Amino acid sequence: MKKVSILIPAYNEERSLPLLYPELTGLMNSYNKYEWEVVFVDDGSRDRTLEMVRALHADDKRIRYVSLSRNFGKENAMLAGFDYVTGDCMVIMDADLQDPPSMIPQMLEYWEQGYQDVYAKRADRGKESWLRKWFSLLFYRILDATTRFEVLQNVGDFRLLDRRCIDALKELRECERYTKGMFCWIGYKKKEIVFNRGDRVAGNSNWNFFSLFNLAIEGITSFTTAPLRFASIFGFVIAFISFCFLLYYLVKTLFYGDPVQGFTTLVVIILFLGSIQLICLGILGEYIGRIFNETKNRPPYMVGETDEAHDKN
Ligand code: UDP
Ligand code: MG
Repeated sequence: MKKVSILIPAYNEERSLPLLYPELTGLMNSYNKYEWEVVFVDDGSRDRTLEMVRALHADDKRIRYVSLSRNFGKENAMLAGFDYVTGDCMVIMDADLQDPPSMIPQMLEYWEQGYQDVYAKRADRGKESWLRKWFSLLFYRILDATTRFEVLQNVGDFRLLDRRCIDALKELRECERYTKGMFCWIGYKKKEIVFNRGDRVAGNSNWNFFSLFNLAIEGITSFTTAPLRFASIFGFVIAFISFCFLLYYLVKTLFYGDPVQGFTTLVVIILFLGSIQLICLGILGEYIGRIFNETKNRPPYMVGETDEAHDKN
C-alpha cells in the first residue's frame, strides 16, 4: 500500500489545530487504498501547540511530530519535515486551514497519473493591499527575468510532492532557504491546480510587510546573481555618461570661458553617484553575507523532541 504523508509546519497554532485535525483525519480515513501519516513540525511554538500535538500522537500513532529547539522559521521547519516524512508522497500544508484539505483528493489523483509535483495556485491574492501586490509582482518579474527556470507566480508551499522530489529537496541544505524557488529549481513533472485561498481560521499571520520583504531579498539573492551584474553594467553606463559630461564642460570652459556656475549640477551628481555606490555596495554585501552564513556550514535546524524519542522514554 502506498503511504501518504502530510507535512504541517506549525508555529503558535493552538487555536487552529483543533479545527484542522478532525478535518484532516476525516478526509484521510475515507481512503482505504492509502496508508497515511501526519507530521507536525512544531517550530518552537510558545503556546500549547507542542502539548496538543503530543496528545494527538498519544491517541493515534499516525500523527507524528518533530519539535525544533527554537523558532527557525517556516522554511527551515519544512526542511525538518522533509527529513522526517516517510511516505511515498507528501502534501505540505499550513496549519491555519488556508490551504483547504479538500484539495488533497485532486492532488492524489494527479499523483496517481504520474505527476511528481502537484502544486496549488491561488486564483487571486485575496485582500492584500495594492502595495503588497505590486511588490510581489515586481519580485516575480525580477526572478523570472534572471533565472533559467520558471518561477511560478501566486503559488505557495501548498502542494503534493513525490518521493523523488522530497529526496531532491533534502539535498538542498542551505541555511537561508527560499523553498518556493527550490520547488521550481528541482524540476520534475509538474501539474497545476487552482484554488481559492481563504482567510486564517484562527490566530494571526506570522508575516508582516517587512518579513515578506526579507523573504523576497532571500529569494533573489539565493537564486540569481543578476543584481551583481546589474551593478557593474550600471557602473559602466554612469561612467560613460560622466565622460560625455566631462568633454562637454571641458570644451565649454576652454572655448567659451566659464563664469562660476553649475554648483547645482555638481551637488546633484555627487549625491547621485554617492547613493548609487552605496546601493551597489549594499548589493555586494547581501551576497557576501550569504556566503558568510553558508560557509559556517551549520545545520539548518536543531531538533528538540521527536515522537520516537518521546515514545522511548
Ligand atoms: N510557520 C512556521 N514558522 C514560522 C512562521 C510560520 O512554521 O516561523 C507556519 C505557520 O504555523 C503556518 C504556516 O507556516 O502553518 C504559514 O504561516 P502564516 O499563516 O503565518 O503565513 P501566511 O498564511 O500569512 O502566508
Ligand atoms: Mg496562513
